Amino acid sequence: MKIKDYYANPLVKLNEATHEYYWTATNEIIQGPSITKLIEVIYPFKIKDIPADALKAGIEKGVCVHNRLSEYIKAKDDSKCQHTYNGWPIQTHTKEYLWIKEQLANVSCQEIYSEVSLSNGRYNGTFDLLYLDHNNKWHLVDFKTTARLNKAKEILQLKFYEQLITDIFEDIPEIDYYEIYNSKNQEHYTFDDDLQKQAEFEKAKIMNESEFSELFKN
Ligand SMILES: [Zn+2]
Repeated sequence: MKIKDYYANPLVKLNEATHEYYWTATNEIIQGPSITKLIEVIYPFKIKDIPADALKAGIEKGVCVHNRLSEYIKAKDDSKCQHTYNGWPIQTHTKEYLWIKEQLANVSCQEIYSEVSLSNGRYNGTFDLLYLDHNNKWHLVDFKTTARLNKAKEILQLKFYEQLITDIFEDIPEIDYYEIYNSKNQEHYTFDDDLQKQAEFEKAKIMNESEFSELFKN
């Protein structure tokens, strides 16, 4: 299948309220872990370390920034932030959205895809951004809105997205560039070879010797 066709008629969608993936043809819920769950084998999410209100505020900002970027990329339309704190608009939401939007203005591409949900029958995920540049190179991009940087975890996540993408799309043999835009720190970066090798090693470990290894047999 070509990504252009899938993008027009996605086979899989994510129910944002329940965080469940489902087949659009049947509305049947797709079993199997998300990429977020898979990478927790190596990088457990220490929810106890974060105060509940900070966690909630962080998730709200992440959803807001991601949704507005997706809206902008898909429709070239500026949506508004609806969030308030004590009756005032939350300025960080808009500031971070505008920073990434400004960075993306420098990107020139032949094809661009935002927020696509995928399943390969083993696991599921939704990538933030994928585009084909004018040298026919594919860029897989993730947006981060928290200060906590963990490059090793980020590239592991992107390697699992690459697998999903190349499993499903005949026109994407591999990802050429992995990139992060961190709007909290206002940083844009890629990953060196050592980090990429480490991520491949960790990916194999999750596939071969974890609670999820059954999914990857045969
Ligand atoms: Zn907002």
